[in-house]
Amino acid sequence: MSDYLVCVFGSGGVGKSCLTMQFVQGIFMPKYDPTIEDVYKTTIDIDERKYSLEIFDTAGTDEFSAMKDLYVKDSHGFLLVYSITSRSTFSDIQGYYDQIITIKNIDTHGRPAIVLVGNKIDLEKDRVISREAGQALARKWDCAFLETSAKDRANVTEVFYDLVRQINRR
Ligand code: GDP
Ligand code: MG
Repeated sequence: MSDYLVCVFGSGGVGKSCLTMQFVQGIFMPKYDPTIEDVYKTTIDIDERKYSLEIFDTAGTDEFSAMKDLYVKDSHGFLLVYSITSRSTFSDIQGYYDQIITIKNIDTHGRPAIVLVGNKIDLEKDRVISREAGQALARKWDCAFLETSAKDRANVTEVFYDLVRQINRR
């Protein structure tokens, strides 16, 4: 059994907790307390291997606290989440990426495993960030990219599985 620690980052309201809850518990919680920051544990089977996954669902301030710093240092992978219905969440994501890269110190640890996630694709009519814009950012960062709906459970499993597979390749 491999123990992997992953962090979920992104602006408030993008659906970090909903994605985490959908993955861990298989339910959509439309009114999850936005101030709750917690670690969720689950075990999964991927490609005939067992993994114990700890998911740190971040919340609150944009500032990196001492606790966040520690988690980021220890984490094997990151989900960077924006909402396809909000321009500001898409521009904020670069700041989270920069902080992660700074804390991880890629000179010594190499590039961390990252999946860029564009959430809320069930709200296609409210889309303001094109799929191409997401793809272009992922190309710039040289990371994976998926669009999801935590509400409809679209691509939710894929996001976490993709991250685990990426960590394995490192
Ligand atoms: P967080 O602050 O990033 O943890 O965001 P939450 O997971 O608490 O979600 C913020 C809001 O967006 C809530 O009202 C959710 O119901 C809603 N939400 C989250 N994911 C989705 C989604 O995929 N589709 C839709 N339509 N709403 C979502
Ligand atoms: Mg939350």
